[in-house]
Amino acid sequence: MTAQIIDGKAIAAALLNSIKTKIDNRIQANKRAPGLAVILVGGDPASSIYVRNKRLACEKVGIVSTAYDLPASTTELELLALIDQLNADNRIDGILIQLPLPAHINDEHVVERVSPTKDVDGFHPYNIGRLAVRQPTLRSCTPFGVIKMLSAMNVNLMGLDAVVVGVSNHVGRPMALELLLAGATVTSCHRHTKDLSKIIKSADLVVAAAGKPGLIKGEWIKPGSIVIDIGINRLADGSLAGDVEFNIAKTRAGFITPVPGGVGPMTVATLMENTLLALEMSEQ
Ligand code: NAD
Repeated sequence: MTAQIIDGKAIAAALLNSIKTKIDNRIQANKRAPGLAVILVGGDPASSIYVRNKRLACEKVGIVSTAYDLPASTTELELLALIDQLNADNRIDGILIQLPLPAHINDEHVVERVSPTKDVDGFHPYNIGRLAVRQPTLRSCTPFGVIKMLSAMNVNLMGLDAVVVGVSNHVGRPMALELLLAGATVTSCHRHTKDLSKIIKSADLVVAAAGKPGLIKGEWIKPGSIVIDIGINRLADGSLAGDVEFNIAKTRAGFITPVPGGVGPMTVATLMENTLLALEMSEQ
């Protein structure tokens, strides 16, 4: 068997097109475009690339992005003051703070300072809580992007045995909540899981979000199953790889995402959709 490779770039491009049409329609109706504040603290090379991609996507769909490129020496108080200012700015619908922040700034303080109505990353405990009680509003971009990707592939998640590897607050946990909401039977694995291979071998759907290249062995993949690789790992030769042994897994899976070109573009497209949604919600 050779898996169907899920083309995240193409699915994300279609989503971006539909967002652009909605924003164009707003402009024609004399309504304003959504505004996104993009905050980058320090010059981490990977973060700079992610932020550039997000700003380019804003340009593509017609979202007005405002760049806040702050030095690594920025204090937590200064960053919190900027967030307060943006929370009060009615031209800004979404506030994105690229993580990780420098070690002297507490990520959680910063995430919780963003107004939940402008939390387009879907990281605020209020928005994670809404998802947990089955009333999602702004949903974490990567997990929700995965759900939209599966929906575009006409995958019915109801009753599937799904395994999520990784339980971080921003990726693994909301991913498990999304799959539960979609009707899957969900197992969450993490660094203390006793026998990862045994759990993966019986899964209909594997979502890898550990940030460990090659963690998920190709031979563990159940024939015909769906493999979604969220991991992005920079290898010693400079290339990117996911968490799954792609070359072997693709000979067993029914569907598989590549890295790059799989989940990453869906994350960015979902951020654009969340920014438009945040504006629409503010108008209700
Ligand atoms: P994290 O380091 O915060 O969390 C990693 C999780 O993996 C932890 O819950 C840990 O328990 C688990 N883990 C680590 N080693 C394990 C092992 N041996 N067995 C089982 N579980 C193990 O990372 P994160 O922020 O959740 O990101 C995970 C990966 O996803 C990273 O590679 C990151 O770059 C990538 N990512 C991709 C996108 C995207 O758009 N594609 C977005 C966000 C993050």
